[in-house]
Amino acid sequence: MERFTPELLAPAGNLDKLKTAVLYGADAVYCAGQDYGLRAAADNFTREELAIGVGFAHQRGAKVYVVLNGFLHDEDLLELPSFIQYLKSILVDAVIVSDPGVALLVREHGPIPLHVSTQASVLNLAGVLAWKELGATRVVLGREVTVHDAGALQRLSGVEMEQFVHGAMCMAYSGHCVISNFTQGRDSNRGGCAHSCRFSYDIQFEDFKHESSFFMSSKDLEGLSVLPRFVQEGIVSLKVEGRMKSPLYAATTTRVYRRALDFWKEHGHWDNAPWGEWQEELRRLPHRDATEASLVEPAGADSIFDEREHVDSAWGMAGVVLSAAPERGVLLECKQSFDQDARLEALTFEGETVTLSAREMLAPDYTALIRSKPSSLVRFPWTPGLAAGQVVRLGKTL
Ligand code: SF4
Repeated sequence: MERFTPELLAPAGNLDKLKTAVLYGADAVYCAGQDYGLRAAADNFTREELAIGVGFAHQRGAKVYVVLNGFLHDEDLLELPSFIQYLKSILVDAVIVSDPGVALLVREHGPIPLHVSTQASVLNLAGVLAWKELGATRVVLGREVTVHDAGALQRLSGVEMEQFVHGAMCMAYSGHCVISNFTQGRDSNRGGCAHSCRFSYDIQFEDFKHESSFFMSSKDLEGLSVLPRFVQEGIVSLKVEGRMKSPLYAATTTRVYRRALDFWKEHGHWDNAPWGEWQEELRRLPHRDATEASLVEPAGADSIFDEREHVDSAWGMAGVVLSAAPERGVLLECKQSFDQDARLEALTFEGETVTLSAREMLAPDYTALIRSKPSSLVRFPWTPGLAAGQVVRLGKTL
């Protein structure tokens, strides 16, 4: 009998990131079209890209969910029926909504399986059952719900539960926040959040002033150590936040959580699981301090990150492998400059990372190359384990 293993759901801010997440083992990805999503600054997908992305994912056994969870006014809904019909025609696996009216439009013009966004802030059984009546098959719970309570909601409602396992956090209830609107003129709930909660603010009372405090800035969610609880409670889907983050983030987070979930699937226990190794990999990304937020206990003051924007990491993105074959070697599309002293590591789809020797890099015409340029192509000798689509990271001097 197949052992229950939660779905690994990865962010796809654009088509390249969708492909990266699928190749590194995501069971499903979530993405947005040009409108209706909550990340205006992400590249987002044209209709044609959505169709390509769905085809790419389905060929590899992965699902695609499309977000329709922005806070929408009447004029925003005019084109929605035609977009829903398009999503149905390209066989999108589900849409993610936060507005009951949008849910009804999806039923009328789809139907397409309906997931409820964390933006709906569903925290209780009555809320889950109300959405079930509207046709929802899954609820992405508010981040304030513990894994234990999520398990109970799933059992009592018969509706699938999805929870965030990793990524940036809001200090507000699942994004119900207008700080960005009033400090930056950018509407958080219509895709424009400027992360204003991360800034330093002065607190002024009548007789007391506290200068330069990051009192609203949350640490990043890292639910790696909570995986055994997710499995125990049977939580159907684990979501990684970060549609606006880099392909290196998509590759690293998917690769680590895939390995951890596969460890469970293979062994059926967590004894001798390499937690330290997995955690170290995650922390090779730029990150803030980590918190389990409310996954185990309701988040408290220790989930505040009282420092600058993020902790820099020792690694950045070097490029993406375009092709790799014994007879032609490895062709890398560079994302930034590096020279012959650079430390380069390919994040393989299986097994350990593989080191590439920058001293052996060549230009596309096989002439010697001392320094790569962003967006240029660079050749390396054939190295076993490398394959098209893999992300190569670059060690930085901090
Ligand atoms: S400003 Fe902060 S709390 Fe508000 S929506 Fe953006 S990330 Fe969330």
